[in-house]
Amino acid sequence: MNTLPTNGERPADGTPLLDVSELTVHHGQLRALDRVSLQVFPGEVYAIIGANGAGKSTLLRTIAGLHRPTEGAIWFDGQDVTRVRPERRAARGIAMVPEGRRLFESLTVEENLQVGATYARKGPWTIERVYEMFGWMAERRSQRAAQLSGGEQQAVAIGRALVANPRMLLLDELSLGLAPVVVQRIYGMLPQILATGLTVLLVEQDVSQALRVASHLQCLLEGRTTLEGRPSDVTAEQVEAAYFGLARAGHEVQRESDSLCSGSTTSSRGS
Ligand code: ATP
Repeated sequence: MNTLPTNGERPADGTPLLDVSELTVHHGQLRALDRVSLQVFPGEVYAIIGANGAGKSTLLRTIAGLHRPTEGAIWFDGQDVTRVRPERRAARGIAMVPEGRRLFESLTVEENLQVGATYARKGPWTIERVYEMFGWMAERRSQRAAQLSGGEQQAVAIGRALVANPRMLLLDELSLGLAPVVVQRIYGMLPQILATGLTVLLVEQDVSQALRVASHLQCLLEGRTTLEGRPSDVTAEQVEAAYFGLARAGHEVQRESDSLCSGSTTSSRGS
């Protein structure tokens, strides 16, 4: 793994909100994650990047409690949650926006938000506050989720997670299947979300987007960490090498990194 210098800019108190240590996860015989570690500090936006099948969703789902690791530990807010059930992790403040949104399509926008609020923790997020953030949503509260566009559905999925008042938001491939302008609009909401004290761990295939919003990143390749550090310390060549597992001559790397940064290599396969 290529570890980048952090220049001491991460929080000095040394207490991560999420501390994942040497996590190994199998799907049957397949080793989907191999000794992956990461620390996410309060207020950070930590991005996991990597190609299809790199293990990104497996990592988020394991943190949420949906897969059981073979080895390793997950600590949240100073407590070992490795064997804690998903609903109890949610009660402690971990909420996930899953890949593909997974809304209840026959329910209305408001009913989907109510589902998220069912076991809500105390905190600043209410359904009304979600309506304030996404201006169009209140007017369409009675529409079925199935009638919404992909971007609108993604917004409802984010709202559904927020109304639970989590401390950490796990965002799985927000950009999937959405037009670039819609992706930018969705990610444009992050500052408002962070301003309420949330910490974000996100997974993205869209490297450019991840680099734009992340304060820290990690690249996975075939279940292993290949790069870790701050985006400002990462060159396009390092990201590309980590993403594709390449060690190439400079001119080749430069040419392909141009396409990487335009986002055109980010969605080579559906999920
Ligand atoms: P994608 O962007 O395609 O979702 P990813 O980086 O999120 O990729 P994962 O979905 O975590 O990757 O998949 C990692 C590997 O584990 C892949 O080889 C995938 O086929 C496999 N895998 C994921 N979920 C399961 C499952 N429930 N059962 C069996 N294999 C799985």
